[in-house]
Amino acid sequence: MGTVSIAIDGPAGAGKSTIAKIVAKRMNIHYLDTGAMYRAVALKALEKGLDCKDPAQIIPMLSMTNLSIFYHQDQQHVYLDGKDVTDLIRFPRVSAAASDIAVIPEVRMMLVKIQRELAQRYSLVIDGRDIGTFVLPNADKKFYLTATLEERARRRWLEMQDKGYNTDFEEIKRDLEKRDLNDSNRAFAPLRKAEDAILIDTTGKTIEQVVDEVCSHLAGVLDLDKR
Ligand code: C5P
Repeated sequence: MGTVSIAIDGPAGAGKSTIAKIVAKRMNIHYLDTGAMYRAVALKALEKGLDCKDPAQIIPMLSMTNLSIFYHQDQQHVYLDGKDVTDLIRFPRVSAAASDIAVIPEVRMMLVKIQRELAQRYSLVIDGRDIGTFVLPNADKKFYLTATLEERARRRWLEMQDKGYNTDFEEIKRDLEKRDLNDSNRAFAPLRKAEDAILIDTTGKTIEQVVDEVCSHLAGVLDLDKR
């Protein structure tokens, strides 16, 4: 029996992780946040004082980097060299560094290998930028979630407020815009909608509306019940 893979790609703040988590729960399968993996590698580089834009500094670090994903009570945890970094990777400076380090093909190939192995072993709802186009071109279903920059920045700002961080809205907006550009313009596996991905603009929609829209396309996938 094979596994089921649902790919959800799109720019930062489009609602991918929120939606992917709920859909995974409904399907009773795991959710894999691939952005967390890029963030963890970036965190290590930052802690070592390396320049995330310089492949000559980053590539030698990779063979000494141990990255693994575990699930505790349905929550994904990222372990970097044996340490749980799940919370540490959420800081804005790590977001920017992740986008820089994600340009380096060697970084991508290391993480894509782990992602493909996990998808072979487990049925997953997997979110990222290149899942439908590069990591799992044969995913059972592909979605591309997007929203206006203003709305994405507003959501990210609210999320930070909720967590108790007082961040500047305009700064978040600038950060998102810069990351979108960086992610869309890189040469290797850029952020792009796969031709066969279902496009969902989440602007002005509630979480429930988007979840329902995604699930309305999954009836066939669930019926296959390949798990
Ligand atoms: O999804 P998240 O915002 O946590 O991702 C952080 C960064 O990691 C993105 O801006 C992007 O540069 C990179 N990334 C990627 N490919 C993925 C997931 C994330 O390049 N599949």
